[in-house]
Amino acid sequence: MRKAFVALGSNLGNRHENIETALVALNEVAGLNLICCSKVIETSPFGVTNQPDFLNAVALFYCQLEPLQLLKTCQQIETNLGRIRTRRWGARTIDIDILSIDDLCINITELTLPHPGIAERKFVLKPLTEIAPDWKHPQTGLTAKEMLRQI
Ligand code: ADP
Ligand code: MG
Repeated sequence: MRKAFVALGSNLGNRHENIETALVALNEVAGLNLICCSKVIETSPFGVTNQPDFLNAVALFYCQLEPLQLLKTCQQIETNLGRIRTRRWGARTIDIDILSIDDLCINITELTLPHPGIAERKFVLKPLTEIAPDWKHPQTGLTAKEMLRQI
């Protein structure tokens, strides 16, 4: 069965509850089973900086969904949790990004895998390294631990 790493972020409303609710909702989807989740960390916003601090975490799931089904599932849960899409990198109740699904490399309009922001985002690499230090980027061959060291 495939394994999917998913990054969660929230900087509006009850941030802890938003992350918890999203994890529970993902785990309730048929074909998704939570294996583990990192600690939740607090981070300064990235890109658009005049907004509240984020809570971020990375979770690992067994995934029987196809990549685009997983994307749609994440977006549906974002909508259910009250996310209103405004600007890129703007404030949000919940952001659910797919970091990777096994070693799949996908580059279509709706979905890029591995997520292209991993190498430059400490708020992703820190929790990813906590739960999977030896996860290897399928294109660069670098591990999560190595990428975190380079940032
Ligand atoms: P961001 O996460 O960059 O702040 P959004 O969550 O609004 O912005 O996502 C913008 C678009 O990114 C989505 O419409 C989605 O199709 C696309 N996307 C591409 N690759 C991925 C990925 N790996 N995980 C999640 N969304 C992705
Ligand atoms: Mg997103």
